[in-house]
Amino acid sequence: MRYLVLSDIHSNLEALEQVLEAARDHFDRVVCLGDLVGYGPDPNAVVAKVRQISSVVIRGNHDKACCGLSSALDFNPLARLATLWTRQQLSPEHLEYLRQLPEGPGSCDGFRMVHGSVKDEDEYIVNLDHAFKEAPEDSAPITFFGHTHLQGGFVLTPEGVGKVIDATVGPEAGTSRLTLRPENRYLINPGSVGQPRDRDWRAAFAIFDHEKQRLEYYRTPYDLPKTQEKMLQAGLPAQLIARLEFGR
Ligand code: ZN
Repeated sequence: MRYLVLSDIHSNLEALEQVLEAARDHFDRVVCLGDLVGYGPDPNAVVAKVRQISSVVIRGNHDKACCGLSSALDFNPLARLATLWTRQQLSPEHLEYLRQLPEGPGSCDGFRMVHGSVKDEDEYIVNLDHAFKEAPEDSAPITFFGHTHLQGGFVLTPEGVGKVIDATVGPEAGTSRLTLRPENRYLINPGSVGQPRDRDWRAAFAIFDHEKQRLEYYRTPYDLPKTQEKMLQAGLPAQLIARLEFGR
């Protein structure tokens, strides 16, 4: 089974559609690590699409805030504005769908899925020191996570040596590849579909081939001006519109 792993789509329909096009014929099932909505201009269309295509979806912190399960008071002012705008846009059906999304960790075919970290969906795993500090008895070999919008992740050998995974996909290249070894533990971030923050504006995703234990990180350019124009029309904050082209 080959899994298309999506995270942090953030209501960016153009990015999502382009990811599905770029990944076409390379996957069997779709899993989603949360943050379907928030920031972008197409919350309803993105929720409808994710519902239609995904086998497993867990919620992210923006999903929780946009459907009213949590306040957006701990968000920065721009994220809060986008959250309140999204809440007004979402149809009753989609609000209800987001409300019933499970909190991670989720699991699928032996791998684990979280939005932030295993212990806390709102926690950012940004460095190696932080990555494997969960309880030692917790030895799930492969965990997919999102939330940081940084494509890549971390690997830990049985000797306890940790390394940052270099997932850099060059400007001309579409993919970088990694073979997973059974003795190691992995924390893998597929990157953000709709609002990358690793200084590469292209939509990010990953494909995990379970039989071959092979992971491919992808980047694909999408129709960014169209997304930005929609955000402008929707009256979303200028800084949120601009950041998309810088990938940060
Ligand atoms: Zn996010």
